Amino acid sequence: MARNKGSSHRWRARQTRDPYVDRAAREGYRSRAAFKLEEIDKRERLLKRGMTCVDLGAAPGGWSQLAIRRVAPKGRVIAIDLLPMDPIADVEFLEADFMSDEGLASLRNIVEPRAVDLVMSDMAPNISGNRSIDQPRSMALAESAMLFADEVLKVGGNLLLKLFQGEGQKELEDQIRARYERLKLLKPKASRPESREIYLLASRYRMV
Ligand code: SAM
Repeated sequence: MARNKGSSHRWRARQTRDPYVDRAAREGYRSRAAFKLEEIDKRERLLKRGMTCVDLGAAPGGWSQLAIRRVAPKGRVIAIDLLPMDPIADVEFLEADFMSDEGLASLRNIVEPRAVDLVMSDMAPNISGNRSIDQPRSMALAESAMLFADEVLKVGGNLLLKLFQGEGQKELEDQIRARYERLKLLKPKASRPESREIYLLASRYRMV
């Protein structure tokens, strides 16, 4: 994403002060986002050995790195992103648009229905800065992830979704409550306080 001089200066300053950026470098993670999933996983015990997990919006790969560490050796991580991603050992990666028919068809080719334990989406739209554009885009990504989870999750499986707090959130939460036994809203410490992002953890899928 293009940044103007002022915002790029602010971005660099924030990165150098950010303890999660240092930790990511020390621990071999490609993104500070890995620590959001790590915190959620510690609290909620999401990732277990042998699981099949789908990572939507995976690049540069922090979540996939953590997920494959947890589910290996018998588990699977299937990841998709619009952007290319450097290979991660044992992670199956598709470079495709999850929102396109082609992208979805390629994903369906490698993920069998009712075979997945966890669908997680950290997908975010390219931020325009205009809330009336960004908010519906974020909701559309989250809703599509929820509908995809309807196809592939095992009964009892879990869904972790990022979205921007705001318009459309309540409707999505209602749809999720109709499908899952429990819904929690999470704001991990590594998620910047000034960001409107939040994570919805829907547990124990019971089908629709
Ligand atoms: N969880 C990742 C990690 O740990 O490194 C960071 C994900 S980043 C915040 C959001 C990603 O969502 C971007 O890489 C973006 O390309 C991807 N994305 C957004 N829309 C997408 C779409 N329609 N299909 C696939 N990926 C998408």
